[in-house]
Amino acid sequence: MGVDKRGKSIRTRISQREYLRHLTAGYVLMYLLLPVFFIILIYVNYRVIYNVTTENIEYRAKSTLLQYSAELDDFLTPGIRILESMSYNIEDMFRTSASNKEILEYLIRETDELKTLTDIETAGIYGCIKGEYLDGSLWVPDEDYIPEERPWYKEARGKQGKLTYVEPYTDEMTGDKIVTICRLLSDGESVVAIDIKIDQIQDITEKLAENNDDDAGAVIVLDDDGCVVAHSDPGELGKNYLEEIYDPSAVIAQKLLIGGKKDFTLDYEGNRYIVYAGELGGGWYILSVTRARKMFARVFTALFISILAALLGTLLILYVLFTINRRRIEAEKYNSDLKSVSSIYLLMYKIDLIEDTFEEISCLSDRITDMVGEKRSDASDLMKNIVIIRSDDRTRDDFLNFTDFNTLNERLSGSDTITCEFMNPEKEWNRARFIAVERDNNGTLLSVLFMVEVIDAEKKARDRLLYLSETDSMTGINNRGSGENKVRKLLLSGDGGMFLLLDVDKFKSINDTYGHAAGDRVLMSIAECLRKAFRNNDIIMRLGGDEFAAFAPMVFTRQSGEIIVDRFLKLLSNIRIEEMGDTPIEVSIGVSFYRPEDQFSFDELYKQADRCTYESKRSSGSNATFYEKQ
Ligand code: GH3
Ligand code: MG
Repeated sequence: MGVDKRGKSIRTRISQREYLRHLTAGYVLMYLLLPVFFIILIYVNYRVIYNVTTENIEYRAKSTLLQYSAELDDFLTPGIRILESMSYNIEDMFRTSASNKEILEYLIRETDELKTLTDIETAGIYGCIKGEYLDGSLWVPDEDYIPEERPWYKEARGKQGKLTYVEPYTDEMTGDKIVTICRLLSDGESVVAIDIKIDQIQDITEKLAENNDDDAGAVIVLDDDGCVVAHSDPGELGKNYLEEIYDPSAVIAQKLLIGGKKDFTLDYEGNRYIVYAGELGGGWYILSVTRARKMFARVFTALFISILAALLGTLLILYVLFTINRRRIEAEKYNSDLKSVSSIYLLMYKIDLIEDTFEEISCLSDRITDMVGEKRSDASDLMKNIVIIRSDDRTRDDFLNFTDFNTLNERLSGSDTITCEFMNPEKEWNRARFIAVERDNNGTLLSVLFMVEVIDAEKKARDRLLYLSETDSMTGINNRGSGENKVRKLLLSGDGGMFLLLDVDKFKSINDTYGHAAGDRVLMSIAECLRKAFRNNDIIMRLGGDEFAAFAPMVFTRQSGEIIVDRFLKLLSNIRIEEMGDTPIEVSIGVSFYRPEDQFSFDELYKQADRCTYESKRSSGSNATFYEKQ
């Protein structure tokens, strides 16, 4: 791409085919590798997002389980405190040898107090004291009820005095969810226990599921029979998942309760479920079940956005690469275009007129290259040296004036290029040229191209053509066009002079009598006489046929005119044409003058001379008539 002096860009356009032809292997590889790179990037991105999301889900599920257990513990703490104080009191009663009846009364009191003074919902305080079952809520067991065989008794004994938390169970009569806390007393055989209703477990479950902000999954508490103890969806309560057949819940329950798996994924009817399970003790399990599609909705959104971004990025980079490559190819093409142009020049420099520096575009002259060396700083100096090295004495001044930067702006104001022809030391014609490259807003030149080309052959051919176009081919003197032009120019410049018209008398009969060739020779002889009679700077011409004209600048008087005319007629009388023998060539001449004070046109001058010629024709023999002012 180049910039013309008006700042408009001249784009070196390249076709699609040209673009492909210039495509380097590196670029092709880049075009191919870039999409591959972005596909890999998308894949890696996807994997990272997937893993982070999975870890996040796992973390959330596990923390839900932990939180759940903690909430349950919080819920049981008041009951634990009560049981602790109760067991110390009973142990005190042992020390004072209190009877079982007294201990039962104490249990009844405690139960009443518990119901009235605290908000703990208890199903009762009871115990097996020294082999006898005592119940604070006065519940009477069946005959076959053996307290020592109950899980609360066995577990308490097993823990040897430590508070024991027995697995939750559901009261079949009331449907209440109950946890038993029990303890072996210091006598080593008595056990006290408290049943705490944990119906709020459903509330806790729902609350935890609500906290799961993205609504991605369910929180479920199952007992070891597959019964739903609590569920984030209350509609599921009371179901037995082991009895469901076509439900993912059934499969989850089976895997957990029968297969014993805690962390697993489950694919069911096109859905993927991620399950984490934790044991609550006593055969109760808490499960976090998350539907994969819901969880991964974010992953897929993120993936979609990253694919879109990567695609746009790839397209953008491809576009940028494509544009850069196109520009590179265009620049190369522009460069080679410039090179091919510069190759016809002996030298070509770009000159910064403001900084007085230059850049070499091409230079075929070793002398100049050596002279310039690495220095690019003094453009005026370069010009002077080029003039000295490249020009002949005869044209040196013209060339020097042409290369003068001081007048360049003025000379290039009307056009974008100026030239100067000069001769080199080998006497060959050269042409120097300045081309305006950049101008500022006021039109002042900022930079130009300077070039020199050899035009010797061209100049000679041109000169020859000019000669041919200006010359009468038979006689070798000016033809009518060029002769008249030259006279008009002299008249315009103020130089007047003498104008002479000449017509051969009875030329037709010369042709007829002695032949056309003889006639031609007559015409050539007349031209020769005119050449000899007039000075070098005078203008002589053949107007056509047997008519000639001449102009002698600065000849204003009849007297000096007559000298020239006589000289001509004398020369004419000496002419001998073989075929014609002694027959003289006679002419009729008319002469008019253009003096410095005259204002009329060339046509008028011509008419005056023509009238005189006509006058001369009237008498036989060669005659000249001078125009007299009326
Ligand atoms: P006048 O005395 O009145 O001038 O009569 P003329 O016979 O000379 O008549 P005119 O000047 O009109 O004739 C010019 C003749 O010149 C006519 C033409 O045949 C002849 N002629 C024109 N060009 C050439 C030429 O190149 N060679 C020859 N041989 N004859 C030419
Ligand atoms: Mg004639």
